[in-house]
Amino acid sequence: MEGTIFDIKHFAVHDGPGIRQTIFFKGCPLKCWWCHNPESQEKSIETFTQINKLDGKEFKKEVKVGYKITTDELFKIIEGDRIFFEESNGGVTFSGGEPLMQANFLFEITKICKENNIHTCIDTTGFASEKNVQKIAEVADCFLYDIKLIDSYLHYNYTNTPVFEIISNLNWLDQNNKNVILRFPVIPEITNTERNLLEVKSFIKSLKNINRIDLLPYHNISNGKYNRFNKENKMKNVSPLSDHEMLQLKLEFESIGFKVGIGG
Ligand code: SF4
Repeated sequence: MEGTIFDIKHFAVHDGPGIRQTIFFKGCPLKCWWCHNPESQEKSIETFTQINKLDGKEFKKEVKVGYKITTDELFKIIEGDRIFFEESNGGVTFSGGEPLMQANFLFEITKICKENNIHTCIDTTGFASEKNVQKIAEVADCFLYDIKLIDSYLHYNYTNTPVFEIISNLNWLDQNNKNVILRFPVIPEITNTERNLLEVKSFIKSLKNINRIDLLPYHNISNGKYNRFNKENKMKNVSPLSDHEMLQLKLEFESIGFKVGIGG
């Protein structure tokens, strides 16, 4: 079976337990204003014209984002890092984009990893059909699950998708005792508002089995990517929170009984 990915990161340490290999799937149903990987959003392979300047001259280069790969080819690459996974209790993380947009390919490669004793994490927005989430939960070891905004209007406004499926799929994973680490992107004036923080904390407190959340600081290092890929950047003048503000937020989430990490 064949899928479309756009990058593979070896020796990642923030995408789940231990040392990981992170596979970035192409395609995402969300269009978050703060997206750090705008080149991941379109499902198809894209070609951009990159303009480099040297000594006052412009040089144009065609850059392709995304390529097709079969499950066999991908598994060979994953297996190449097995020794690092074994040394560190790590494994492979399927990220994106949204890996569940290629649900059949994701299921197949996750199943192959399971059969070969390689730990898998699914880094997901949760915006996928109930059927696909429940099917992947049969073979995946862990979910890194984003929770961004609880209010449905605001969620739609800033991500272009409703929140209902995301909440409902998360409730199912919780009720079925699946291993889930929540991730909360801390976006100034969007997710990091008094009202949204209250709503997020109130919702996650209602979960029965999930008790870990990683706070993902917003950063603006992707500004260059928006220029390079000719995408509209709605966040170019937004500054990240300070380290002190992030630590305050960590304490807030710890006070409701969660284990909290910064970064993820
Ligand atoms: S869910 Fe992630 S990949 Fe998709 S648009 Fe949002 S930030 Fe980008």
